[in-house]
Amino acid sequence: MQKQPLLKQIVECLELEAERREYAEIDPAVLGTFMKLGGGAPAKCASTGAKTATSPARSYTVSSPTPLRPPVPVSTPAPAVASKPAIERQSEKTVAAPAPEVPMENLNVETMQFDELEKKAAVCTRCRLHKSRTNPVFGDGDPHAKLMFIGEGPGQDEDAQGIPFVGRAGQLLTKMIGAMQFERKDVYIANIVKCRPPENRAPLDDEAEQCLPYLLRQIELVKPEVIVLLGAVPLKYILGLSGITRIRGNWKEFKGIKVMPTLHPAYLLRNPDAKKDAWEDLQKVMSVFGKKHKATSKS
Ligand code: SF4
Repeated sequence: MQKQPLLKQIVECLELEAERREYAEIDPAVLGTFMKLGGGAPAKCASTGAKTATSPARSYTVSSPTPLRPPVPVSTPAPAVASKPAIERQSEKTVAAPAPEVPMENLNVETMQFDELEKKAAVCTRCRLHKSRTNPVFGDGDPHAKLMFIGEGPGQDEDAQGIPFVGRAGQLLTKMIGAMQFERKDVYIANIVKCRPPENRAPLDDEAEQCLPYLLRQIELVKPEVIVLLGAVPLKYILGLSGITRIRGNWKEFKGIKVMPTLHPAYLLRNPDAKKDAWEDLQKVMSVFGKKHKATSKS
């Protein structure tokens, strides 16, 4: 009776790992192609195939160590693990998570401000990732930003510098932010986990669960009007959903905050054709702030 959920978890981990490894094989030459995003009129996506998700957002309590559990159990068979790309194999389901391997402890973050929260994370040993980090990557940007981006976790460059999104994917994200007529310093950027997973693998469920109280408190402190989720990992751990290619571009809500799931910049580096889809998503975010790209009619 317990084998199927375990198998699904293994498959999911393998999919996320495959996705991460593909990120590592990005040709730096494609970076230049994304520069067109901010200057020209991006091609309009003929069909996104996106569906409106119906699952409710996961509800977390920052003041207590909330176990990572899906709001609705998975009731349909796991998606086939065939030859499709990993990012397309995920179905729009709430995601089951295993019991944490590390005992929970109360972080008592509910009254912490940014400085104290960051100091706490800097010496955190709540999960095994502290063993492989060079620097914890807490967050970057305006702590009172109206727009917040949430990614997956630090990579090699981020681990070395202690700043999120400073590698090639980070350069792309900075371009995306600029194309949205924001400056990077005016938004806030954070990740699901603050320490680099070894070999750039995806965070494990218990690692994400241990780290989420920091991020949830950051969200409380920033109080953004809009959160942009970058890729499958934040979609899983913030909204409890999978299926980023179907869900992206559709407004969601988390604790009263508008949430826009879109594709991870590293995925866009590897799949330049998908930039038009991400651009559509970002234009929807721009419209919330009264911004509109002059060369597009898409809302
Ligand atoms: S990833 Fe998060 S929970 Fe794990 S050691 Fe780092 S700061 Fe602590």
